[in-house]
Formats: sequence, C-alpha cells, structure tokens
Amino acid sequence: MTFSSLGLCEPLVRAVADLGYDAPTPVQRAAIPAVLRGQDVWSSAQTGSGKTAAFLLPLLHRLSAIAPRSPRPVRALVLVPTRELAAQVLEAVGQYGRHLPRALKSVLAVGGVSANPQMLALRGGADLVVATPGRALDLAEQNALRLGAVEMLVLDEADRLLSLGFSEELDRVLALLPARRQNLLFSATFPPGVQGLAAGLLHEPARITVEASEAAPPPDIQQRALVVDTDKRTMLLRHLLDTHPWSHALVFVASRYGADHVALKLQRAGFAALALHGELSQGARTQALEDFKARRVRVLVATDVAARGLDIASLPVVVNYDLPRSPTDYLHRIGRTGRAGEPGTALSFVTADTEAHFRVIEKRHGLRLERERLPGFEPTEVAAPVLDPRGGVKGKRKSKKDKLREAAAAKGPARKP
Ligand code: AMP
Repeated sequence: MTFSSLGLCEPLVRAVADLGYDAPTPVQRAAIPAVLRGQDVWSSAQTGSGKTAAFLLPLLHRLSAIAPRSPRPVRALVLVPTRELAAQVLEAVGQYGRHLPRALKSVLAVGGVSANPQMLALRGGADLVVATPGRALDLAEQNALRLGAVEMLVLDEADRLLSLGFSEELDRVLALLPARRQNLLFSATFPPGVQGLAAGLLHEPARITVEASEAAPPPDIQQRALVVDTDKRTMLLRHLLDTHPWSHALVFVASRYGADHVALKLQRAGFAALALHGELSQGARTQALEDFKARRVRVLVATDVAARGLDIASLPVVVNYDLPRSPTDYLHRIGRTGRAGEPGTALSFVTADTEAHFRVIEKRHGLRLERERLPGFEPTEVAAPVLDPRGGVKGKRKSKKDKLREAAAAKGPARKP
C-alpha cells in the first residue's frame, strides 16, 4: 500500500517521499481514508506509530482542496497539551505541506510567551491553528481567534486533554466551535476515566486500535530495572553515562527541583546536561530541547512535561531516575526511545521504597523484569515500613510472641517473688 493509494494528493505524497517514508504505517493506513471521507476518528495507537502524519496528511489534503478566502476562516484546530508538542506539530505541518501549490497559513497559539505576536499572526485569519487549550481560549476571548468556522478538530494526546486539569478549558474551547464538525482523537492510551468523555465528543467514529505488535515500525525497546539505593542514583547515572556509548540520554525525574538538582550534579561531573521542566521560561524550554535534539547537550533531565509526544530522533536511552506516577506515564516516557524502528533502552531505577510501585507498573503492562544489581551499586536499603493507621506495621501481623511481650510490658517490669 502506498500513500497515493490512500487518496492523498501528489504534493503530499512527494513531501513524505522526501522525508523517506516508504509506506504508510498501520495507523496511517486506517486513519487517512477515514479522515478524507470526513468521518470522526478515535485512534489509540502506540507512540511512535506515525499518528501525527495520520491526522495531518488528510487534514492538509482537505484544507488545500478549497481555494483560500480572505480573511481566512480557521478551518482546522489542533489542540495539544504542551507547548513543545504544539511546536513539533507545526513543524510537521511545514514539512508535509511544503509542496502544496497554495501555501496554507498555520499559526501556533501557545501559552508561556507573549500573546501579541500570535494575535498579529492571526490577523487576516489562518487555515490551521495549533494550540494549547488555555491560550486558544485567551485569544478567542480577545477576539483574536475566531473558531466559529472550524470544520476539523484534532485532539492530540487526547487522554490528557480530556483529563481533569484540562477538561474545563477544553469544554470552554469546544463551546466556541460549530456543533457540526469532524473530530479526530489521537492518543497512545485512553484510560477508562476519559473514555466516556471521548465517546461523547465523537459521532460514529472509525475506531482505530493499533496493537503494539502490529505497529510499524515496531517499537523495539529493551526495558531494564536496576535496583539501587536512593542516594546512589546520581552516581549510578554517571557510571552508566561513562560506560555506555549513548549519544544522548533522556532522564526523567519527579519534580522541578529534582531536574535542576540532577542536571547540576551532572554538569559538575563534566557532563553536558540541562534541565527541562515547566517552571522554566518558554525560551529556556525551547532552547533546552533544541540543544538536546541537535546533540549539543548529551543529557536532558526532565519532568513529565517532556514525556508526551515529543519526537527526539534516534534517542538511544530513557532513564527513569524517579519512577513515573502511573503505568500510563511509564508508557509515555519509554515511548520517547525506540522510535521509527530504531532500537532503544528504557532503564528504571528501583529503590527499596519504590519496588512495590514498580510492581504495579509491571503488572499493568504484563511485565516482569529481572532486578539487576550493578557491581558497586548493590542496594543496602530496606523499605521503610508503611505504618498502619491502627498501629503496627502494615503487611506484618503481630506474632503471638509480640503480643505476649506487649502484654508483659504493659503490666510493668516483672518482679521476682
Ligand atoms: P509520531 O508517532 O507521529 O510521533 O511519529 C513518529 C516518527 O515516525 C516521526 O519521526 C515521523 O517522522 C516518523 N514517521 C511517521 N510516519 C512514517 C512512515 N510512514 N514511515 C516512516 N517514518 C514515519
């Protein structure tokens, strides 16, 4: 099967050929004809499966089929949860649309930077807007962005957009769109909590599920679990960076503080390392990511801001310095490596205190990884006992002997007759 047999116009087919795409991936094979037909799409596809092109190619095809009007009504709105992902989608629009005879106007509308240039860019309208929900709302409230003519709505990383924290903003954006429109929902995962919301948004959608085994190119990620003491993790990370020929490494931590702290320690040890987290200015975030992608920086220490959707070419390794909060986040994080058919490694540092949590992650994904101990980093910690609110140590029933000892102690010191 070829891109042109899916019904895409020649300039788009030429653009993907330029990029070296030989054949459409399974999610593209399923989604492109459905989107071209005007159908709603609900797609759960493994990260790295080519989902961006799966919605952008048919969307660009449809946008370019109609001569632009002046001012241009916004006909397609792509919503994403992070600014980085928005920038990446817009970059893909540029790549896929480069041979189209009539240039489409696409505008980025994301928070964290001044709204003025975005307002200016939106003067005279746009064919396509790629936005985070908060900024889309701000611009719409100021009448800079008019959404009343949107024909196609894409929610990329839809589960995140539909989850608490985003859903209120999303609802307000949706209220500004025409009721009759095409809806395309894409995400690697759809946890049960958001399935109802997703279903409510869609009208007779084409359901597309690409199992990991049929995803082409298949993600080839070797997952490993290294056991280590909590305070030896930075040393272990340095050791791994010293002993592996990784061109670059993405390290995930749990907090902004952790990102700064670990990046600083690595810098002091002579590694080209940077932190990436949501508290940095947008300029610093963009720069950090660019430096990392261009390999000017070898190690990026990031919070989950960086976990979703980012496409970092040929990333050989992802390290979970801190474990992710949820099994879903685990999937998103490790999906940064092993993309486009290249092999990747995902290393998780497991400490005595996080062992139980890692087992939950493993169970959810049907995994059971061997716990590796590296020489010099053998753990000595034992898990801190979890206190049961009724007293005692959770998971440890008092033995008969313990009870007798307690009873004796309560009576006071034993006296000899
Ligand atoms: P995505 O899942 O959209 O993040 O895409 C993952 C990567 O696969 C990106 O680097 C795309 O450029 C690449 N890609 C998308 N479609 C194809 C294809 N049909 N053939 C080869 N690579 C592709």
